Amino acid sequence: MSLTPLKSVLSIDELPKSYYNILHDLPAPLPPPLDPKTMQPVSPEALLRLFAKECVMQEVSTEEFIPIPEEVREAYVRLGRPTTLQRAIRLERALKTPARIYFKREDLNPVGSHKPNTAVAQAYYHRKEGTTRLTTETGAGQWGSALALAASMFDIDLTVYMTRSSYLQKPYRKVLMEVYGAEVHASPSQRTNVGRRFLESDSNHPGSLGIAISEAVEDCVTHDDTKYSLGSVLNHVLTHQSVVGQEAKLQMKEFDADPDYLIGCIGGGSNYAGLAYPFLREKLKGKSDAEFLAVEPRAVPSTTRGEYRYDFGDTGEMTPLVKMHTVGHTYQCPPIHAGGLRYHGKAPSLSLLIDKGFVRSTAYTQNEIMEAGLLFARTEGIVPAPESNHAVKGAIEVALECKRKNENKVILFNLSGHGLLDLKAYDDKLADTLPDFEPDLSSIRGALESVPLVR
Ligand SMILES: *Cc1c(COP(=O)(O)O)cnc(C)c1O
Repeated sequence: MSLTPLKSVLSIDELPKSYYNILHDLPAPLPPPLDPKTMQPVSPEALLRLFAKECVMQEVSTEEFIPIPEEVREAYVRLGRPTTLQRAIRLERALKTPARIYFKREDLNPVGSHKPNTAVAQAYYHRKEGTTRLTTETGAGQWGSALALAASMFDIDLTVYMTRSSYLQKPYRKVLMEVYGAEVHASPSQRTNVGRRFLESDSNHPGSLGIAISEAVEDCVTHDDTKYSLGSVLNHVLTHQSVVGQEAKLQMKEFDADPDYLIGCIGGGSNYAGLAYPFLREKLKGKSDAEFLAVEPRAVPSTTRGEYRYDFGDTGEMTPLVKMHTVGHTYQCPPIHAGGLRYHGKAPSLSLLIDKGFVRSTAYTQNEIMEAGLLFARTEGIVPAPESNHAVKGAIEVALECKRKNENKVILFNLSGHGLLDLKAYDDKLADTLPDFEPDLSSIRGALESVPLVR
């Protein structure tokens, strides 16, 4: 008996040797980040106070390929790259769809999400440039634990500002960060001016990713020895994630299948860009007509109910203005379990590609995506992160559409992480106590009106 091909595992030699940078192939130049005081473009030099020099160069580079340092490739191998790409045959059968569904497994490393792909690169560049301490923010804790892991691999001290609601409700990722040696503070905290300002207005403030970013940036700029790392949104982060899609391209060839649909969830946009951009490259060169579908929560509908315009990257208004899809930097994202998708904005390159029609986006409620996650767990045996369940739901909906049209299309989605530290979300779903949050359109409008309109 010969087995139906179920998975592809690449050899270590097939690990990508360079990152793919979509800035080389965008259909229009990316609008530059603006200084909110002068409304002039921010010079790359101004970013050097925060980021590693190499990351700043990558941020503005239009080189198509950027070599991956050997030390970073070695770290990738240590953390399980290349990762497996699998076919979801039992899910296909449960849906009775003629479509084939494949998924890339970014859940199989020690912290269980795609985020180490950029964390180890950033930690390496910082270390090489002599940085001994980093600050960052985290929501549900995936980015914090990925950077804590990377910082421990490259001997850097790390201070993490974790949104207070997650700090209290999800103690295990905080423990994980501390296991790797990081220092973790609930945000807003008493350690920064921004934090104290929010605590004055509400001593039990639940915090937000936007506030935690403001605190991590303030901690960085007020300490000479300290730099900062961001886990999504920025060009260089998306570039680092391109290892995912480059591997997936080789693996789909092994399956002798060419994806018709590329699907992923979007918080800031990095895991989706990581999978999709190496495929989108062909489409931008006119060599593919694959469809690209990005899925976001209905409660944080940046691309489906927000606007494509300049906005602050953080709630405390410390960052430059960035042109992106946003629900407004003061929008209070509802407390959905998919904490990694609770961010008001989306990556500039992804926003541009959505605006130009190369990527389509859609939104689902928390109950819809958790239901998809249960079906996936019960067919494929893997419990996805609530964030990743948005991608699972997107893939299921496309597969059902293929069933209605009797089309045997090929679907590929990114399984950005596992949900073993998010079992509360599954518990609530099984107990049928999961609230659906409808987007509050008037507060989105209010949040957008508070930002200066730039033409
Ligand atoms: C952080 C996170 C996301 C969202 O971030 P992106 O930058 O949009 O990828 C999605 N899935 C998981 C598992 C995450 O940890």
